[in-house]
Parts: sequence; C-alpha cells; structure tokens
Amino acid sequence: MTANGIGRWLTRLTLAGGLLASVPACATGDPEAGTAPPPTGVVSPPPPLPITTWVDLENGTIPLVIIAPHGGDLAPADLPDRTCTGCVLGNDTNTRALALAIASAFELRVNRRPFLVVNRLNRRKFDGNRDLVEATGGHLPLESFWNLYQARIDSAVAGAKRVHPRALVIDLHGHGHAVPRLELGYLLTATSLRLPDAQLGALVAQSSIGGLHRTAASGDSGVTLLRGPRSLGARFRAAGVPAVPSDNDAAPLVDQDYFNGGYNTSRRGSSLGGAVDAIQIETHYVGVRDTPESRFAFAEAFATALLAYLQDHYGWRPL
Ligand SMILES: [Zn+2]
Repeated sequence: MTANGIGRWLTRLTLAGGLLASVPACATGDPEAGTAPPPTGVVSPPPPLPITTWVDLENGTIPLVIIAPHGGDLAPADLPDRTCTGCVLGNDTNTRALALAIASAFELRVNRRPFLVVNRLNRRKFDGNRDLVEATGGHLPLESFWNLYQARIDSAVAGAKRVHPRALVIDLHGHGHAVPRLELGYLLTATSLRLPDAQLGALVAQSSIGGLHRTAASGDSGVTLLRGPRSLGARFRAAGVPAVPSDNDAAPLVDQDYFNGGYNTSRRGSSLGGAVDAIQIETHYVGVRDTPESRFAFAEAFATALLAYLQDHYGWRPL
C-alpha cells in the first residue's frame, strides 16, 4: 500500500469510529494490558483486490504462447491511474480481441489452440509489459497482481514446453507508426538491423531468438532467421501482411519508427539461452485490428505464418 493508500485507510478508520484518538498508549507493566474490550467502530482493512479476474490464462496444445499485455478492458475506479514519469498510458486498441481471434483461427485450422495470457487491466492502471515498478506505477497493492500475471505467463510457458521441448512466446501489440507493417522485435535495434549481414549475424546470438539461432530444426541461423525465406517476416509477407525485418524489407529506414521488443520479450526470450524464444509483434491498425473482419483476416494470416515457422524451425506440426 502506498503512503497515500495508507493515509486514505487511516482517514476512513478515524472518521468511522474515532479509533485513533481512543487507542491508549501502551503502559509498561500494566496488568490489564491486552484484556480491554475491543473499541467500537473498528473498520476492516480494504478487501483484497480481485486480482484473479484481471488476467485470463487459457491453456493450449501448441508450443506457442501469445501474450496480450496492452488490450485490457477493465479500469477499476479504486485503482489509481499510473502517474510515473514517462509512463505510457494508452492501450493498444483491440489487441485483446485480436489475440482471441488468433486463438480461434488456430482452432479452426488445426483443432488446437495456442496458450493465451491476456491482461484485462487498462494500461492506465497497469502495464503488462514492464518491470514491477513501472507496471504498477508504484502502487504497492498491485504488486500481488504483477506477481500473479508473471506466474500465469510462467504457467503458460511451462505448458507449452510440455507440448514440445522448444516453445515460442509472441508478445502481441499495436503501434501507431506511419508505415503500415508489422514490426517484429527480436531485441535488435533498428541501427543493428541496418548493419551489413556479417555484422548483424554476429548479434543474433544475443537476440530474443538466440537459442533458436543455435538449434533451429531448419538449420537456419543468424541473418537468415531474421529475413531469409523462412523467417517470420517472410512468412507474414507471403501471407499478405508486410513486416520488418523480412525478406523484402530488411530494416527500418533511419527516419522510421520501430519497436524492437520490450520487457516480456527480454524476460521470456533466449538471449541467455534456454528452450523458449520470444518475439514481439507490433501490429498496425487498419486492415489488422480495426474491425472484426480485419481481425479475422489477420488471424488467418497469423496462423498460416506461425504454423510454417513452428514446423520449419521448431520441428513441430499438428498431428
Ligand atoms: Zn503495446
């Protein structure tokens, strides 16, 4: 609880029963200490937050976890708005609906669903792609929710690894940048992506697919995994959705905005090794998530691209 929160609670306590004024100071050696009847008008502490209703976890049967951290539809009035310096408060419009559409597309296509972790809180209240302090805006009661949210992701990742020894996490977002294309984030900056292949290739081991770079079933590695014919960007492009990096869009230009991956991609990816990779997908709005028809069409393309990617590089395919 923050100092403000404690202050509000104490204020309620005082108003309700004058309790603060009536509590006697402890008297050393007082034989009656601890035997006095409880004061009247005692107010209970605030009820626990309904944190389990603020994150949805759906178990799946594909070694794929989709996180939707910025599409939350709930903004409880008793949670303060985040006020941290530099905090971004705007939701990624319709990305919760997009994640649900994607899960349905997999089910229609292969009768299997990805694991899904959806933050239900609006970004004004909680940011599902930040460390504890920035995610909660320093509002201490939300720490238990941040822990639960991370535990839900842990659970989904563990489930995905039970489906297949190697798994992929997709952190799903929406951007408002000028160029209408997917921005695929591997923790490699735009400046790095503009490097010549030989120099960029040396950086892929530290990317969020660093583990895949060493072990891909396809034998692809380095730059080929980022923008070769079997890269995720190439698979999306072939499915009708432009993406960067990809086989025909190697890197953002110097004056173009680009998101290269955030907290979830860093924490869940394989830059330090391990059997789980992570990629941030930033989606544009029109034609992807603006209408139910757009979301349905994009979900189809997503399933096409990811099924090919999982088969190529993870050696996984639905039975
Ligand atoms: Zn976002």
